[in-house]
Amino acid sequence: MGAPEAFTQTTDVGHWIGGAPTRGSGTRSQTVWNPTTGAAARQVLLASEADVAAAVASAKAAQPAWGDMAPIRRARVLNAFLALLNQHRDTLAAMITAEHGKVFSDAQGEVTRGIDIVEFACGIPQLLKGDFSDQASAGIDNWTLRQPLGVVAGITPFNFPCMVPCWMFPVALACGNAFILKPSERDPSASLFMAELLKQAGLPDGVFSVVQGDKVAVDALLAHPDVRAVSFVGSTPIAQHIYETGAKHGKRVQALGGAKNHMVVMPDADLEQAVDALVGSAYGSAGERCMAISVAVLVGAVADQIMPMLAERTKALKIKNGLEPDAEMGPIVTREARDRIEKMIGVGVEEGAKLVVDGRGHKVAGFENGFFTGGTLFDHVQPSMRIYKEEIFGPVLACVRVGTLAEAVQLVNEHEFGNGVACFTRDGGTAREFARRIQVGMVGINVPIPVPMAWQGFGGWKKSLFGDMHAYGEEGVRFYTRQKSVMQRWPDSTPKGAEFAMPVAR
Ligand code: NAD
Repeated sequence: MGAPEAFTQTTDVGHWIGGAPTRGSGTRSQTVWNPTTGAAARQVLLASEADVAAAVASAKAAQPAWGDMAPIRRARVLNAFLALLNQHRDTLAAMITAEHGKVFSDAQGEVTRGIDIVEFACGIPQLLKGDFSDQASAGIDNWTLRQPLGVVAGITPFNFPCMVPCWMFPVALACGNAFILKPSERDPSASLFMAELLKQAGLPDGVFSVVQGDKVAVDALLAHPDVRAVSFVGSTPIAQHIYETGAKHGKRVQALGGAKNHMVVMPDADLEQAVDALVGSAYGSAGERCMAISVAVLVGAVADQIMPMLAERTKALKIKNGLEPDAEMGPIVTREARDRIEKMIGVGVEEGAKLVVDGRGHKVAGFENGFFTGGTLFDHVQPSMRIYKEEIFGPVLACVRVGTLAEAVQLVNEHEFGNGVACFTRDGGTAREFARRIQVGMVGINVPIPVPMAWQGFGGWKKSLFGDMHAYGEEGVRFYTRQKSVMQRWPDSTPKGAEFAMPVAR
């Protein structure tokens, strides 16, 4: 395969309100970087409170008719959108590589996982069927239905500019809501492209909007009385802010936060498989995945066997422009993020961890100003160290040595994050015990990045999720709808006369 076509548009990235692109008030903007070259690529406009108010007003006007439409007709619009996404998947993937830096094959995978959710949402007539109790009492039937909330908003992180919005809006739209997306300001182009495709698919104007921006836009969405629910994915401090502020304004909130995902390698594991899994999940997407493995927990004698294998593979990573077909790792999203990651490596050295492979200062020929760093590998990391406790969100793998499975489980359970975890073993009893005891929302057995499929739902535990419901799947349908119970009798089906006692089933 030759290199895919690069995304090189230089025009400003604006908002999408009322079914059309707009610059809105257009007073503030921010640079979007090309992380591979290190050059400014384009500007993204940053919404004002008035821009957010305009998006909410247009969403509020469009939602009743969309929410009233038969679910199968909404599903047909999503089906048309699905076809367009499939047709343009490589265009979207190239946009992601251009602004995020992840390698093209990884960006294609991201788009595919987003498409999965659209496919799930196309089944909305089945998902909204509701329950019916015939003869709940003499002559009385009782049923439940789920109705849309109205206008809902999604605030998404830089690391999955297509997939994470797709965790939210296909399900929200299928349920009959109008959706306002506030994408990351670091890679905003995919959101506008998806808005155009939704319009082409026949989505009525106003039902899907995009407001580009920063804290100003987010806080305006959180405070707006017509926004009924907020879905957030991003770092833990912001997730907590969103959860608390949204709740204070009476909104339903799901806020997914940061992570520190452990992979436990048992002495009986297939070591080749474990090393492949560690290298791919720690350094894939330059570690900028909420389900990246950032801690390897090496049990017993496995540590001495696995460390040389890991070191060799880490040094051999193919770090390149993500559009090159054999690239395994691209640059970091911004210069600031790269510098923060490299600073944390310095902290690890000062704390006394053994730096086995040092990725700092890595240069890629032809892209000397790109935001690259190499793969970094630490051994003998202690749970008291900052590089163990904090999310680094870069290609840094910290290896911790423990003696037993019980110690490994305790270590994971005591960590403040609980997004994903994996255990590599050949023993069914170990696998079962691990999956039952571990205090983490998503568990992989010999699967390093156990991102649940579209119909299962995604969510961590502890400081990795604030709120009750996970993203997408049936939890997503529950989040974007509220239950109504209807109890009905017909005048001639029961005896007449006032009832003064609490009615019970007859
Ligand atoms: P971030 O928290 O900096 O930004 C996320 C969103 O919040 C962006 O849209 C941003 O514009 C907005 N935002 C940033 N600062 C804000 C503020 N002070 N007030 C209001 N809004 C603000 O996260 P990021 O750097 O874009 O993404 C990386 C983080 O996201 C990592 O911590 C990663 O673990 C997490 N993440 C979690 C999941 C998950 O499912 N749990 C998935 C993907 C990413």
